[in-house]
Amino acid sequence: MAKIFCVANQKGGVGKTTTTVNLAAGLAKVGQRVLMVDLDPQGNATMGSGVDKRQLKLTLYDVLLESASIAEARVKSDKLIEGGCSYDILGANRELAGAEVELVDVERRERRLKEALAKVSDEYDFVLIDCPPSLSMLTLNGLCSAHGVIVPMQCEYFALEGLTDLVNTIKQVHANLNPDLQIIGLLRVMFDPRITLQAQVSDQLKAHFGDKVFDAVIPRNVRLAEAPSYGVPGVVFDPASKGAQSFVSFAQEMVDRIQKM
Ligand code: ATP
Ligand code: MG
Repeated sequence: MAKIFCVANQKGGVGKTTTTVNLAAGLAKVGQRVLMVDLDPQGNATMGSGVDKRQLKLTLYDVLLESASIAEARVKSDKLIEGGCSYDILGANRELAGAEVELVDVERRERRLKEALAKVSDEYDFVLIDCPPSLSMLTLNGLCSAHGVIVPMQCEYFALEGLTDLVNTIKQVHANLNPDLQIIGLLRVMFDPRITLQAQVSDQLKAHFGDKVFDAVIPRNVRLAEAPSYGVPGVVFDPASKGAQSFVSFAQEMVDRIQKM
């Protein structure tokens, strides 16, 4: 059975999608079977995996409305196969924004993704869900499905404050909808150790959250930012770059962590 993780932070632009696609590629590289689910109508994780969101016949939208199964809607990307880091993709595009409204009156609407994933769970070691920058019904579907949440964060002044909202939401989902849910860890991203404030916030994080802070640290690295315009994760785009190597280390850390879960 797959271990299912949401990559979530309600703050925008903190590196959720970069983390999701590079962790997916890193896990594939170390031999894991991975499904990446794009839960964001922006479709950045879909495009960043080499799949054109506008060309998709079936997406997560169809799965949430139960007009298609994941087995029918998932796709593979040629670019990932060429790069030797292949994972399956359940894509999204702007259509997904409509699901929020269309599911308003539907029973067990927050459990639709969970039920759909249960049918393919045996085929994967990891399912990674890229969440949108909000605590919407879509994100709730992700949190209901997951065993844990990976929280990418920049070590900035307001980082800890933003974390409080997310921690409270996770507590509520844990209490009411998904007793399995826990924060697996906080991932420091876009990190620059030369900036004193970042080093200080990083120390604060470790003091507050102890071993919930992943050992892996993702540096600010231009190759990671360039990769999406080539439709591949940084891990595939430039495997020798510092950013790619840090994501492969993170993937190995995740493999080690789930063995202890
Ligand atoms: P949103 O909330 O809109 O979904 P997000 O949290 O998914 O955003 P990303 O899209 O992953 O964030 O990243 C935001 C921007 O920062 C992107 O342009 C991305 O290329 C860049 N970026 C992310 N991580 C790094 C990094 N480690 N080094 C350099 N640039 C990065
Ligand atoms: Mg994103």
